[in-house]
Amino acid sequence: MAESDAIRWISVAGEKHVATLNLVPGDSVYGEKLVKQDGEEYRLWDPFRSKLAGALKKGLKNMPIKNGSKVLYLGASTGTTVSHVSDIVGNSGIVFAVEPATRVARELIENVAAKRKNVVPVIEDARRPHSYFSVFGKVDVVYCDIAQPDQTEIAIANCSAYLKPGGAMILLVKTQSIDVTRDPNAVIAQEARKLEKAGFTIGQILKLEPFDKDHGLIYCFK
Ligand code: SAM
Repeated sequence: MAESDAIRWISVAGEKHVATLNLVPGDSVYGEKLVKQDGEEYRLWDPFRSKLAGALKKGLKNMPIKNGSKVLYLGASTGTTVSHVSDIVGNSGIVFAVEPATRVARELIENVAAKRKNVVPVIEDARRPHSYFSVFGKVDVVYCDIAQPDQTEIAIANCSAYLKPGGAMILLVKTQSIDVTRDPNAVIAQEARKLEKAGFTIGQILKLEPFDKDHGLIYCFK
């Protein structure tokens, strides 16, 4: 299944790995292995370190992030997943990477944005989407992984400000951040209903075990 030319499934020692075409050959961002295939260098994408890789391994059917996509990424942290998204969108795409925590944002800037022209760090709080002065125009995809109890509301507010009509959102739901006492499936279903109320169509819901026990992923579009 080729979601994009920059995403490839590679067998290493009999095991199938998801990988992305390295936009910065020779550079490993978080210690991931670099492998050569057909004269190109790919970075193995660790599903235990990145929920998007976990979702691909669990069968995400329609990967909305493609070559040339404009992505608003909320909760960039040190840039582990952002770096793979940067590989996928390539030099014709752009990733606006929002992260308010200065300690991790420094790593995002030094290890990822300084080497990848398509990553724009936005050192802001996703609760204030109108304060992102470096985000221009509308985006194709909003990706939200901020592990906050009101993450769905924050994601919806960012989509209202920046998602183009027909655009997609990937929302990571940290069920424990929302309600530790409830069944995780019920929490994910509750967040999906909020999205439907806000006008989204739910495309797919995935649980990320065994890669991540706490999270579900909702893929939806307007
Ligand atoms: N998405 C990252 C990855 O896969 O490499 C991991 C993200 S980590 C689970 C959650 C991040 O969300 C943290 O870096 C945290 O600082 C950030 N965060 C928390 N609240 C936020 C907010 N209100 N706005 C933007 N980011 C936030």
